[in-house]
Amino acid sequence: MTALDLLDLDPSLSEEERQIRDVVRQLVDDRVRPHVAEWYEEGRVPARELAREFGKLGLLGMHLTGYGCAGASAVAYGLACQELEAGDSGLRSLVSVQGSLAMYAIWRYGSEEQKQRWLPAMATGEAIGCFGLTEPDHGSDPASMTTRARRDGDDWVLTGAKMWITNAPIADVAVIWARTDEGVSGFAVPMDTPGVTAREIGRKMSLRASVTGEIVLDDVRLPGDAQLPEAVGLKAPLSCLTEARYGIVWGSLGAARDCLETTLAYATSRTQFGRPLAGFQLTQAKLADMAVELVKGQLLALHLGRLADGGRLRPEQVSVGKLNNVREALAIARQCRTILGANGVSGEYPVMRHANNLESVLTYEGTSEIHQLVVGQRLTGLSAFA
Ligand SMILES: Cc1cc2nc3c(=O)[nH]c(=O)nc-3n(C[C@H](O)[C@H](O)[C@H](O)COP(=O)(O)OP(=O)(O)OC[C@H]3O[C@@H](n4cnc5c(N)ncnc54)[C@H](O)[C@@H]3O)c2cc1C
Repeated sequence: MTALDLLDLDPSLSEEERQIRDVVRQLVDDRVRPHVAEWYEEGRVPARELAREFGKLGLLGMHLTGYGCAGASAVAYGLACQELEAGDSGLRSLVSVQGSLAMYAIWRYGSEEQKQRWLPAMATGEAIGCFGLTEPDHGSDPASMTTRARRDGDDWVLTGAKMWITNAPIADVAVIWARTDEGVSGFAVPMDTPGVTAREIGRKMSLRASVTGEIVLDDVRLPGDAQLPEAVGLKAPLSCLTEARYGIVWGSLGAARDCLETTLAYATSRTQFGRPLAGFQLTQAKLADMAVELVKGQLLALHLGRLADGGRLRPEQVSVGKLNNVREALAIARQCRTILGANGVSGEYPVMRHANNLESVLTYEGTSEIHQLVVGQRLTGLSAFA
């Protein structure tokens, strides 16, 4: 491991966990690093091709069991997220949305028929999924959603719009959350159903190597069995978010680590005032503080992973991890940028790309403020937001 493993965390991982991490790191080195700056600049990414490659390695729905999924531990899944996001947050988003949001929703709440239909194809990357919870007017407050599903004979008819949906323009199936007379319910919606349109959201200054879209549902008629039978109420989509947030706890640190590795190499090789930047005390203070935050975040992620593997991880603990690790990763990326000087704003280096990506990561899957409120509720017993 690198100098950044200040606490010797490596031996705390099992042989299998280290192997999975190293395989994903190699994939990122071979298939992502040589191209990602260009994908980012052009705002285009070969998502389908990458999904198939990720599928071959068992990275899609990797922590799920059966239906072609790898059944890996939560820690192994977290390590994979860390390596993917060291490449780019957009690629970790592709894997998170596919595995932790769309596949998990079907795996946890779907009928046997829905699982057989979608999960094996999603595990190989042949089918792409997305997860539609956010709406144009309802983000942090999904309980106010206005997308509606009404019964018409045996069928369901869905009307509404979902906004900021990762993978929507390339998806084969969308898990759509809608209000019914009985409360919030989930639906597996094939994207080629008449009345479904997905428009790509352009001009993003963040997560440019990820496809994001708006889904409009215009009287979309679905058979009765499109409903996810086990998903009752808002706690169903929220449980999916807990899965994805867990991946972000690890993933965000991958982006931070990549920034710090880049910056260490830069600061030791660039000379000003007759000595390397890394030889100045102010630079060392920055580097030390960032490395300390990185290993603290990794310890936290590993602890949460072990709790998850023991079946004891609670949602507010995931909020602690997402709040801290994304906030610190973003602070690290911004601080690294200062050490690179003018080169810090150049696409020749990954630092500004990671920093820009982390702005989205700070916002999606519950903003920092929402996670503060979740932790605040746990501390005080008072809900300040519901
Ligand atoms: C690139 C990208 C990809 C995304 N992918 C998906 C996806 O695949 N599926 C999906 O469903 N959604 C997705 N989202 C949407 C994301 O989850 C929402 O943007 C997020 O939940 C915040 O909602 P909002 O943008 O509507 O902000 P708002 O809810 O309008 O919040 C705006 C600001 O107000 C603050 N705020 C809101 N309520 C409170 C409160 N009670 N107290 C204090 N502060 C508050 C927020 O923290 C935030 O700072 C994605 C977003 C992005 C940027």
